Amino acid sequence: MREALVAHGLAPLSLAALVASPECSADPALADAAARLDVPLRFAQTRAEDGTPPGNLLHAALRIPYEALHDDPQTGIALALAPLAIDPDTIGRARGRLTVIGLGPGRADLMVPAARTALNEATDILGYDTYVKMAGPLRADQRVHGTDNREEMQRARHAFELASEGRSVVMVSSGDPGVFAMATAVLEALEASHDSAWAAVELSIVPGVSAALATAAQAGAPLGHDFCMLSLSDNLKPWSIIEKRLRHAAEADLVMAFYNPISRARPWQLDKALDIVRDFRAPTTHVVLGRDIGRPGGTLRTLTLGELRSSDVDMRTMVIVGSSATRKFGGGGDGAEWVYTPRWYE
Ligand code: SAH
Repeated sequence: MREALVAHGLAPLSLAALVASPECSADPALADAAARLDVPLRFAQTRAEDGTPPGNLLHAALRIPYEALHDDPQTGIALALAPLAIDPDTIGRARGRLTVIGLGPGRADLMVPAARTALNEATDILGYDTYVKMAGPLRADQRVHGTDNREEMQRARHAFELASEGRSVVMVSSGDPGVFAMATAVLEALEASHDSAWAAVELSIVPGVSAALATAAQAGAPLGHDFCMLSLSDNLKPWSIIEKRLRHAAEADLVMAFYNPISRARPWQLDKALDIVRDFRAPTTHVVLGRDIGRPGGTLRTLTLGELRSSDVDMRTMVIVGSSATRKFGGGGDGAEWVYTPRWYE
């Protein structure tokens, strides 16, 4: 492209945009060229099989008059010269983007900077209402598709539809988007789709601080040795699988982090889970309860497995059950108590 510019006596700095056919939207070489030439990459129908001259197509795409067209069929590069400055945003459309981000537990400073950047660049923001609010403040020009709708697959498909129109879409989850959250629904939707426009969307997933990590950090280091994360929700998996995993994890002496420990629709499951754990672990085992960690009114409690009652827990709580090695000590000047799992076994 630089050669083509030079051949026509044009300075690379006079280039306003690269325009390519939508079929090429996932071509990394084009993205690389645009980045190196430091110009936006836009997509519009630029070549036709029916022999429509590229000039006509470019004319339609640019929707502005241009003075001259240098079309080189050999390189496939056509240069359109405009007498006036061009706003590249008005040419065709950008490659659509879908970025699935994790907000972390709640506090703005626990959100990774890449997630903040994605939010700043977003034209459209999707997610469960509470999380979209947590992601704010947003600009007036950003479209919010907040919803109470718990239908995650529908939301994932909506995100792809918007992104395949060339929009920059951000899908928000709390914590980490790949931990019992939207990233999996998005990938499921993509794999099930045969829409090439969806496949051309620039998809990326930005990690976040998951509730177990945020709770653990506040308590000390209870996840300092081998641990596992389990969702106690049997909405999407049979309860028998959950019981089996609990038995194996408890027997293996793994520290356990329980997500979705209880809800109004699932009132008995936590007690059942604790019964299983108690078959393998002593009543003196340390337990950490983090509720609304990183959010206003957040609380942290440490107690023992023997003391723990399911009424201490709600759906906004993270439950960390220690291993046989998990310890607690306190007595610091500020009364701080620390729970940690040593890196060694006796
Ligand atoms: N993707 C999220 C988890 C979603 S599952 C993450 O990585 O954190 C929802 C469960 O996560 C809740 O039922 C609760 O157990 C836990 N959770 C989410 N945010 C929390 C917070 N701020 N404090 C404590 N637990 C939280």
